Amino acid sequence: MTKKNKIYLSPPHMSGNELALIEDAIKSNWIAPLGPHVDEFEKEVSAYLGVKDAAALSSGTAALHLSLKILGIKKGDYVFCSDLTFVASANAISYLSAIPIFIDSELKSWNMCPESLEEAFKKYSPKAVIVTDLYGQSADYYEIIKICEKNSVPIIEDAAESLGASYDNKKCGSFGEMAIVSFNGNKIITTSGGGMLLSNNQDYIIKARKLASQAKEDYLHYEHVELGYNYRMSNIIAAIGRAQLKVLDSYVKIRRKIFNNYKENLIDNKNINFIPELDLSYSTRWLTVMQINNNSVNSLINHLISKNIEARPVWKPMHLQPLYINNNFIKIQDKSISKQLFDNGLCLPSGSNLATEDQIKVIEEIKAFL
Ligand SMILES: *Cc1c(COP(=O)(O)O)cnc(C)c1O
Repeated sequence: MTKKNKIYLSPPHMSGNELALIEDAIKSNWIAPLGPHVDEFEKEVSAYLGVKDAAALSSGTAALHLSLKILGIKKGDYVFCSDLTFVASANAISYLSAIPIFIDSELKSWNMCPESLEEAFKKYSPKAVIVTDLYGQSADYYEIIKICEKNSVPIIEDAAESLGASYDNKKCGSFGEMAIVSFNGNKIITTSGGGMLLSNNQDYIIKARKLASQAKEDYLHYEHVELGYNYRMSNIIAAIGRAQLKVLDSYVKIRRKIFNNYKENLIDNKNINFIPELDLSYSTRWLTVMQINNNSVNSLINHLISKNIEARPVWKPMHLQPLYINNNFIKIQDKSISKQLFDNGLCLPSGSNLATEDQIKVIEEIKAFL
């Protein structure tokens, strides 16, 4: 339940069509296991993204875990990973006792820096590269794909924050050997919790469905050869997802409008920069993120919180997390870009159900602080 009057960063936004589909699942008594809404949801998301197949799972994190498992990542293997990301991207590597190597961001997109990635390939031979599409925007894929192809290493696209975005008219969630999306409560559309693994390689998806169902073999009795997990999505959750998918594009448009509104109203201040958009990118603007370059970001966040407005710093880079502090961080400049973005960046309320008067209040409070 959300608190009254508080302005949230990115709360769930029901479209009104969810209940009819949930009712269908309940009336048919098909709430588990799996079911027709799961099958349809997988088909609809694959069609939307232009990808051959998808496995609906319990979370985006589960999808990341399975993607690495399917690629055969094991103990001691190196996996490259965006440094500026949510911890789930890196945790999937640790679940398999593999070793994450964090790649710095570039200022152009805030995403994985192609030059740093090239630098990393000079030092390590990774088994996979996890590229996050940060805050709704794709990484610079032409550059990144070129480098990974040259080194014959597969890309896993973490598009958890970027469902609905595209790069050169190709949808985020369709890049790489495999991609993942998330339907967590704070994402652009939500099923309350859930995720999907996507690939043009159908064998991967068949494998994912098996691993997500405790790797049960195809016998009448319960036969298990491999270690599996309980990661599949329920029919009720998928019913919510199908209703949400129908409004995805309209929600993206609203979030982009919210971003432009913040920008138009605040860009005159010379200390403020907004997250840029690559020429080839169409961002979902999942969250409006800006940088304030006068060491006042924490006081601004605290000011907004005191006014009942949720605001948060940018993701704390993985190489600075106590969980991951180590020397496995690759950058090209002396100063790390991801740290600079964390030190000065904040996320503003950006939900597709953000009321106009609430956004005006946020803008007024930022101006008052400045
Ligand atoms: C939310 C998120 C995830 C994890 O998704 P869940 O469905 O919450 O497990 C992974 N990566 C990034 C970048 C995210 O923002």
